Amino acid sequence: MSRAAQAIINLPALVHNLQQAKAAAPTSKTLAVIKANGYGHGILRVARALSHHTDSFAVASLEEAVELRDAGIQKPIVLLEGFFEAGELSVILHHGLDIVVHHRAQLEVLKQQKPADAKLNVWLKVDTGMHRLGFGPQEVKTVWNDLKANALVESITLMTHLANADDRQDSYTSTQLQRFDQCTQDLPGPRSIANSAGILGWSATHADINRPGILLYGGNPFNIGIDADVDLKPVMTLQTQLIAVHQYQKGDPIGYGGVWQCPQDMPVGVAAIGYGDGYPRHAGSGTPVLVNGKRAQLAGRVSMDMIGIDLRNTPGAQVGDPVILWGEGLPIDEIARCASTISYELMCGVTQRVKFVEKT
Ligand SMILES: *Cc1c(COP(=O)(O)O)cnc(C)c1O
Repeated sequence: MSRAAQAIINLPALVHNLQQAKAAAPTSKTLAVIKANGYGHGILRVARALSHHTDSFAVASLEEAVELRDAGIQKPIVLLEGFFEAGELSVILHHGLDIVVHHRAQLEVLKQQKPADAKLNVWLKVDTGMHRLGFGPQEVKTVWNDLKANALVESITLMTHLANADDRQDSYTSTQLQRFDQCTQDLPGPRSIANSAGILGWSATHADINRPGILLYGGNPFNIGIDADVDLKPVMTLQTQLIAVHQYQKGDPIGYGGVWQCPQDMPVGVAAIGYGDGYPRHAGSGTPVLVNGKRAQLAGRVSMDMIGIDLRNTPGAQVGDPVILWGEGLPIDEIARCASTISYELMCGVTQRVKFVEKT
């Protein structure tokens, strides 16, 4: 038998979560963010499952966009960082991809292009305070005029990105909104502001087009809590099996470094999952797992291929029994907290040797 580690991808849950985003912002269109291999879920299966439900897709690399086109995805695709060098433009035009323009260097390249048969839909990115990508508010009008005057440009969408929307108490989101409204007020065209946290937590950020990412996959976009009326379902369930069960004595150390010792005579299981599969090594003893659907706890350090599990809470557990690391019945956000990270990183980090199985 092959290794038991599996990522079960629940595609109906993905569609359900997108409907939740639409219900929260019924008048906005949707740009489904499927960068980083669909947040680790598999970009093609995610795109196919969502293609009848979203207006468009967003990715961060030209390779991913071309992969989508080659697979027959015809919806608009936005490159969130646009192009990195002039040579990519012919591919972008050929595949009918839309680009974010966030930097002077890109403007210069666009200016030097010869007119082409195909034209570009451009997303002008405004930096309203994230200080990552985009033109400052004072430059927006000139940049917009430059783009407008360019024969290659078909349309201009105005966009910005929120830095602190995950914290519903943080007034910086309102500051960013004000800056955006102010510097774009005289300019026509569609607008796009909200990520998942904006969609579910800040109705003032809803614009013509929203950009849900993490919520599609069932991750909570907020640093604490989520509204009771939002029903996100986990899309990825990471699971494996027990491959050993032992009875140890009080004081026996478990795993590398012996950082955890049995507090009493007790059963300890070993499950076939580790950091080689993308299970975070930073998850400490006490991190919850489900054994036969019941909560148990990590015991000792995460190895490359295995973890130890305190089985005191799951009597009778035996070799072959299912172990869920996150997903159905065990929110990924809880595991992320135990590993001092966020759900995004865990989802993106599941490695190639884990078998992906679709649940349709
Ligand atoms: C990744 C990304 C999103 C989606 O963010 P979530 O927090 O996952 O919803 C939206 N907009 C831009 C520009 C992004 O890079």
